[in-house]
Amino acid sequence: MSNSGIDTPVADGNGTARGQLVVISAPSGGGKTSLTRALIDRMVERGQPARFSISHTTRAPRPGEVDGRDYFFVDEATFESMIERGAFLEYARVFDRYYGTSLAETERGLTAGEHVMLDIDWQGARQVRAKAPDAVTIFIRPPDRDELEARLRARGSEDETAIAHRLAEADEELAHADEFDHVIANDSFGRALGALDRVVDG
Ligand code: 5GP
Repeated sequence: MSNSGIDTPVADGNGTARGQLVVISAPSGGGKTSLTRALIDRMVERGQPARFSISHTTRAPRPGEVDGRDYFFVDEATFESMIERGAFLEYARVFDRYYGTSLAETERGLTAGEHVMLDIDWQGARQVRAKAPDAVTIFIRPPDRDELEARLRARGSEDETAIAHRLAEADEELAHADEFDHVIANDSFGRALGALDRVVDG
């Protein structure tokens, strides 16, 4: 494959079918990370290999976040040099910080036959759609704005200005929901997880 894109799912010479790229987007605080982790656990339990793609970001770690597990936390110069050498499948600026998915990270999983889950924003989803048309794209819709605000506050990791900023970004994210292959309402965790599972398994 080249740096300009990502191969379509075909079996390699050893008969291992390439995994499926799955994009899961939602407004920040929409419950997408816990849903995605639960989905991966279910898939792995039934013997369907799946992994979460760990993004690179220039934002600071939140309390409890671990480098190499939640994100690869890098500085702007490192991120920009990765952009220059074509190291990203997609990248975007979200909340004035860079976020990106490294090609090497996704390729490793896909060639090993794993489903690779990307928890990325709508700008990144657009780039993935263009480069990997076989990717399945899913939008998780939070129940309503009050609920979203409550979830952001419950997370307790941001001040008022950051919460206001994230709500404004959520409106922007919601405006792009119809670009996705599937829209799943996150009104109940169990129902949303079941719906996600059916989309990915089907
Ligand atoms: P947070 O800072 O809350 O972890 O993430 C903020 C937003 O950045 C979320 O909407 C998340 O989906 C998005 N995001 C995280 N990683 C990536 C990435 O690699 N690429 C893109 N385009 N967005 C990302």
